[in-house]
Amino acid sequence: MHIMADPHAVQLDALKRRARAESIGFVPTMGFLHSGHRSLMDLVRPRCDHLVVSIYVNPLQFCPGEDLDEYPRDPEGDAELCSGAGVDLLFMPETLYEPGHASTVSVSGLTDGLCGARRPGHFDGVTTVVSRLFGLVQPTLAVFGEKDYQQLAVIRRMTRDLALPVEIIGAPLVRDTDGLALSSRNKYLSADQRIQAQSLSQTLFAIQAAVAAGNRDVRALLALGRTSLNVDRIDYLEIVDPDSLQPMDRVDRPARALVAAFVGQTRLIDNVALCPA
Ligand code: AMP
Repeated sequence: MHIMADPHAVQLDALKRRARAESIGFVPTMGFLHSGHRSLMDLVRPRCDHLVVSIYVNPLQFCPGEDLDEYPRDPEGDAELCSGAGVDLLFMPETLYEPGHASTVSVSGLTDGLCGARRPGHFDGVTTVVSRLFGLVQPTLAVFGEKDYQQLAVIRRMTRDLALPVEIIGAPLVRDTDGLALSSRNKYLSADQRIQAQSLSQTLFAIQAAVAAGNRDVRALLALGRTSLNVDRIDYLEIVDPDSLQPMDRVDRPARALVAAFVGQTRLIDNVALCPA
């Protein structure tokens, strides 16, 4: 496995590979890698000649007051995980933007609600960094986790709208044995907070079970969910159309339940598919 930091050297290498008709698989991350990230690598590894993972804590997608400076880092552990996953190139830039960087990629509509409404500018930061990474890494396919369900929808939209020649693959959400969605931010949780954090997935599973049992009324389902969330602050709990991300009144077709909540200072997100029988 090669480790590179220079964006231009990465782009040069990628362009040479593409000229030789090699396929390039890409997993963009912010590091502090866990089994959720590993599952993305495992998904794309058999589907490409050359597998690239990037680690970059992108300042553009953090809002003022968020955890940019404290975001957990473990470059040695990350390199070990990537090497074990058969990654060919680990791209770890110091910075990704050139002095004078002045362009923003912005997706409207899909970014209006959910995390977009609570984290102003976050998705502009995500789409700007992902489009720049696509330009540098030149992937033929890139994988994003359903853990960040809205992000996946926004990236799919951006890729279509800008006619970027990259196949986007969505990867299922990976959970710990206690149901908690794996996240680099789980490191912030104390033992007690971890118990509280489990209530996110428990709430979503309760909503899922209620839908499977025939409950179709979104207001009733969300009321049920709010009573079972044991968190310090609910950012949102919503049931939306899985493609448009627009709120629904009744779960009379497939839907997605999504939650964002604070446990202490830590903001956690989770989501599940809702499938009426
Ligand atoms: P991050 O490092 O948090 O920016 O995540 C990098 C990629 O890994 C994103 O596409 C995430 O959606 C994905 N990811 C993070 N956690 C999980 C998880 N628990 N299950 C599946 N994918 C995940």
